[in-house]
Amino acid sequence: MGIELKKRYQLFIGGEWVDSASGETFQTTNPATGEVLANVASAGKEDVHRAVDAAWKAYQGGWRRTDAGFRGKSLYRIAQAIRDNSEELALLDSLDNGKTLNEARVDMFMAAECFEYYAGAANKLEGKVIPVFGDRLNYVLREPLGVVGQIIPWNFPLMMAAWKLAPALAAGNCIVLKPAEETPLSALRLGELISDIVPAGVVNILTGYGPEAGAPLVEHPAVKKIAFTGSTEVGRQIMAHAAAHVADVTLELGGKSPQIVFPDADLDAALEGVLLGIFYNEGQQCSAGSRLFLHESIYDNFLKKLIERSKAINVGPPQEPTSQIGSLVSKEQQKRVLNYVQLGVKEGAEVACGGKAPAAPELKRGCYVEPTVLVNVANKMKVAQEEIFGPVLCVMKWSDEKKMIEEANDVQFGLCAGVWTKDINKAHKTANKIEAGNVWINQYDVFAYGAPFGGYKQSGIGRELAFDTLLHYTQQKNVNVDLSGKPSRWF
Ligand code: ADP
Repeated sequence: MGIELKKRYQLFIGGEWVDSASGETFQTTNPATGEVLANVASAGKEDVHRAVDAAWKAYQGGWRRTDAGFRGKSLYRIAQAIRDNSEELALLDSLDNGKTLNEARVDMFMAAECFEYYAGAANKLEGKVIPVFGDRLNYVLREPLGVVGQIIPWNFPLMMAAWKLAPALAAGNCIVLKPAEETPLSALRLGELISDIVPAGVVNILTGYGPEAGAPLVEHPAVKKIAFTGSTEVGRQIMAHAAAHVADVTLELGGKSPQIVFPDADLDAALEGVLLGIFYNEGQQCSAGSRLFLHESIYDNFLKKLIERSKAINVGPPQEPTSQIGSLVSKEQQKRVLNYVQLGVKEGAEVACGGKAPAAPELKRGCYVEPTVLVNVANKMKVAQEEIFGPVLCVMKWSDEKKMIEEANDVQFGLCAGVWTKDINKAHKTANKIEAGNVWINQYDVFAYGAPFGGYKQSGIGRELAFDTLLHYTQQKNVNVDLSGKPSRWF
């Protein structure tokens, strides 16, 4: 399917499509070819103020009082709009991000499912009655926060927008969303699709750079919460700036997740899970299982198959149906990933396969990186400690279980982990010992709406995808009523 892109995209503020106050734009490119896809408005502080005002007006003007059932129905309609336009939206993300079209199609499915989950959840959000002393009624209301700022990354552009927008809308908030500067197009198309589903100003979309558009959103005193997904470094800054006006934050940050293979595992299943865990989405996912702990008794055989399979992965143009890995998001990202490979070699690791951009002439202009397996890695090396965010797997051999678990946990992150064993006891015991917000047993990268996703340690604060996520978009109001009709005499 072809797609006709506009030459110029505008900001979505208060239900209108407008240029940025400065008139500035930036180019968004197709990383697989280097071609410019479109010019996009570059928002600054003034636009942030306009968008927050519009969101506040929409909130006060009615969205906060809409009944939850209506909000739920609106979310079902958004889900349907995504499903009806999923090929177009998937193509936009594939063009803008470099991920394969097949991967982008999965994102669209996940995005629609997310809106549907929170559509159903919207009218399940309840307050409670507290049994208190005397002739009193004491009840607790769950009220929305008001205006919420949401800042998302480029790795799953539309899906991340869905993960953020759906629970915030279901709980009755109005939103200013800032997509990543690398991948603004699908969020803008979503803005068009939802413009006749939710009232003007309920969702505002500001495209632009982090420091110019993201930072003023975080600093705006009327923004009651910032929901952010991105790097740990920017997450720290956001938390510090949100503190200035005591805004709430949820942060979904980096990861360096272990995949632990016990000798009694179903090794074929483990191999599939390890490949998916590190190479899905070109390795650009916070959940990536980027440190593989292989037991010494299975090490040689497993590694041999892993290398064979990694070499056989088809790296190719993102829109080709046969491509299994597309382009990374940018030249900077490609350079960063390849630099990490070099760094690993300097630290004493060995490249078992990959480690470079593919040689095929038709891929030269893109930002591709071959599926890479590093062996002889020690957990203290930078390649095993820092998030590479590319298709690079660090393999480590273990024999002592206690030491292996210590190493699996010896990292600043704690987002995910994979455990592969047929011993049910060992599986649960290991899950118990792992310091991570998500542990997958005999599977990897499986997300379910309703199941909380988020990190321990420096991988973040708060959880997404769960029913409780709705609570993070509300504040409690306690109402205490005297029913006795008599004045309370204290003096
Ligand atoms: P990455 O390094 O993977 O690009 P970032 O954490 O830099 O991830 O970016 C994630 C999102 O955060 C993007 O939308 C980006 O524009 C935004 N961002 C970057 N810097 C800031 C900042 N200082 N304040 C607010 N948002 C920012």
